[in-house]
Amino acid sequence: MDCIFCKIISGAIPSKPVYQDDRAFAFADISPQAPTHLLIVPREHIKSLDEANDKQELVGHLMSVAADLARKNGLAKGYRVVVNTGGHGGQTVDHLHVHLLGGRAMTWPPG
Ligand code: 5GP
Ligand code: ZN
Repeated sequence: MDCIFCKIISGAIPSKPVYQDDRAFAFADISPQAPTHLLIVPREHIKSLDEANDKQELVGHLMSVAADLARKNGLAKGYRVVVNTGGHGGQTVDHLHVHLLGGRAMTWPPG
């Protein structure tokens, strides 16, 4: 399948992995928008959150991994998790992913 994140999970495209288990894989974003910017993805190819309604346990697991990685990366002051979904959501890679951003104060509203 022609999916960048599936290729990263398989190792066909190199990445900087920070966590992996039987369901999830996490790696550094290639274009970091904060001092810590990690992506947490399911090993299974799911296009977006909009296709994940029957995967509640998996989506919850991705969120737990994000919180664990925030702790491991010293983000005690706070952090942001983002799941861009679809065109208007700003999703550019069609494999479900959770952004973990931290290490600086975030602003609101987002762009
Ligand atoms: P989206 O815009 O879909 O929410 O997020 C996609 C993210 O994937 C972007 O933050 C982008 O920098 C990241 N990204 C795209 N291609 C690659 C890649 O080949 N390697 C890594 N590590 N990150 C990527
Ligand atoms: Zn994929």
